[in-house]
Amino acid sequence: AKGQGGGGYVLFDRGMHETALRRLDLELDLRRALERDQFEAYYQPIVRVADRRLIGFEALVRWNHPERGLISPADFIPLAEESGLIVHIGRWMLHQACAQMRAWQLAFPRRPALTVSVNLSARQLLHPDILPEIRRTLRQTGLSARHLKLEITESAMMEDAERAIELLETLKRTRLKLMLDDFGTGYSSLSYLHRLPIDVLKVDRSFVMHMHERSEDRSFVETIVNLAQKLGRPVVCEGVELPEQEALLRELGVEYAQGYLYSRPVTAAQAQMLIIEDAAR
Ligand code: C2E
Ligand code: CA
Ligand code: CA
Ligand code: CA
Repeated sequence: AKGQGGGGYVLFDRGMHETALRRLDLELDLRRALERDQFEAYYQPIVRVADRRLIGFEALVRWNHPERGLISPADFIPLAEESGLIVHIGRWMLHQACAQMRAWQLAFPRRPALTVSVNLSARQLLHPDILPEIRRTLRQTGLSARHLKLEITESAMMEDAERAIELLETLKRTRLKLMLDDFGTGYSSLSYLHRLPIDVLKVDRSFVMHMHERSEDRSFVETIVNLAQKLGRPVVCEGVELPEQEALLRELGVEYAQGYLYSRPVTAAQAQMLIIEDAAR
């Protein structure tokens, strides 16, 4: 590689150098992606397990890269988080999701109100302006707080648990709902669970995925569901792909589910078709 024996380049082998360059490239692209309108909100249905009725959607960001095509959030959220860009992307997503849900409510006034869930990363949660920002977004879009849910992971909360709890308490007073995302993948939250002002627990896909074939995973889900029921909190199981998994969830009395069995994340236009289909049932 260039610069060998000269500057700091010797620290990198060629592969690392290229990875670093590609990363830098991606970060530059990411910086411009917002102005260039390359993000898109996708929506994945959340259904009631008992009858598969639609209760809402989770909003999931997609990056439509001009050369690389549709990039999964798993490939750019960590970078966005590190660089702080997540604050801007998250702000855009929140606004997009609230505006979309409000538009659906106005278009389908006779349908029982759906909710939209938006993911909040640690950086967003700890951002000093998060509260006014949420309030402003609700005001601007006309969505009422009770139709917005925020999904927060255990790890994001544990970055500064005391502060997170305080903030969540304040958020709750605005009447929006809080979901604990990826539940079961963290380490410390079980001891905090009774203190967290959380309305709904989302059981991580990694436990649901094998529950029909691994009794340990089944027991794990069962334990969480029992705990949640004791705490009076409903549960959403994510990553439901098979009817066998759904049948087990139904037996356990799990309230809500999300996964490819019902629908993949889809565009707003496709999501609207799902609302119409559900309303016609
Ligand atoms: P997550 O919050 O746990 O979102 C659920 C992920 O599981 C989504 O991946 C969804 O497409 C996927 N999924 C849902 N059902 C199934 C299933 O049945 N099978 C399988 N294999 N996968 C399923 P996605 O959209 O790629 O998002 C990945 C992660 O990126 C999300 O995980 C979330 O942590 C993050 N993310 C996505 N959008 C946003 C956003 O707007 N803001 C922030 N901060 N993070 C986001
Ligand atoms: Ca989520
Ligand atoms: Ca999740
Ligand atoms: Ca997950």
